[in-house]
Amino acid sequence: MRRRIAAANWKMYKTPQETVRFFDKFKQFPDATDHCEVVIFPAALDIPAAVQSTLETPIQIGGQNIFWAQEGAYTGEISADMMRAAGATWVLVGHSERRHQVCHETDAEVLKKAQAAIAAGLTPVICVGERYEEHKAGKAHDVLIRQFAGGIAGLTEEQFAKIVIAYEPVWAIGTGQTATPQIASEAHKLIRGEAAKRFGEEAAENVRILYGGSVKPENIEGLMREPQIDGTLVGGASLDPDSFAKIVQASRPLS
Ligand code: PEP
Repeated sequence: MRRRIAAANWKMYKTPQETVRFFDKFKQFPDATDHCEVVIFPAALDIPAAVQSTLETPIQIGGQNIFWAQEGAYTGEISADMMRAAGATWVLVGHSERRHQVCHETDAEVLKKAQAAIAAGLTPVICVGERYEEHKAGKAHDVLIRQFAGGIAGLTEEQFAKIVIAYEPVWAIGTGQTATPQIASEAHKLIRGEAAKRFGEEAAENVRILYGGSVKPENIEGLMREPQIDGTLVGGASLDPDSFAKIVQASRPLS
């Protein structure tokens, strides 16, 4: 049985003080971590405050990005070991805002980052997803197959067992236009199928695939009715403790 995950990507929002205030409020809500894992991805500079605020709780903290090299002359970058030493246990890899919008990360870079994360003991959440034009042209599944082949497929079986995948259609991120549960479920099925071809049925059955893209308390119930969807990666709606607590509450296992 795959344990569901409610994950929060805070992007470039919140200072350390605002991070502490978020957790002061969030921790007052009933603990839902018995039915799902809760992982928060704050900006790198907020990680120590987030780790400190969540000591003695099951809430887990992750980074939003790492560089693949262990150390060296890479001004402005953060290594997987540094991230781990700061107390993070997860990391996002290949978020669309890093692949397409600003940084133009390639599938090959995504693979190197995922490998570096695993080597440092971080759980990478590897993001894949098609852009609006690709979605409109009916090419979504081709894009997912290409991203899988160029990135995730390069992992070993042992490494694959340590990752989480996030299907995040770019047209749904920050637009308020969520993919329907059916679109998301079909994409997850396709990704699981690619995983089965490369890593075998059992490994594919075990890997957790999250959906991300304008998830909100108002639309999470429909997504959570889909057995293929193992949780969500939430941007905008995770910044408010009350809203994210509702998403966590809704992330229960299928009965
Ligand atoms: C994200 O940043 O991964 C995301 C899904 O953002 P939003 O929920 O705001 O669409």
